[in-house]
Amino acid sequence: MPAVATNLDNCCFCQSCNVCQYDAISFGADGKVVVSSSCVSCGACVGSCPCGVLELQ
Ligand code: SF4
Ligand code: SF4
Repeated sequence: MPAVATNLDNCCFCQSCNVCQYDAISFGADGKVVVSSSCVSCGACVGSCPCGVLELQ
């Protein structure tokens, strides 16, 4: 169940989710979050997002 950006329209570019210890979080040219296949499903980024963008699926 990796992290998935389920509500990307709500991403406000705050980068609060940039807490990943596995370098799985990055930001696209549009400033929105991108989760890579390096995700190990720890959930840290999900809890750090104030906008409900990220979920473990
Ligand atoms: S769930 Fe954990 S490992 Fe996956 S992107 Fe978020 S912080 Fe990184
Ligand atoms: S914490 Fe949430 S709103 Fe902020 S950049 Fe990350 S996904 Fe977007």
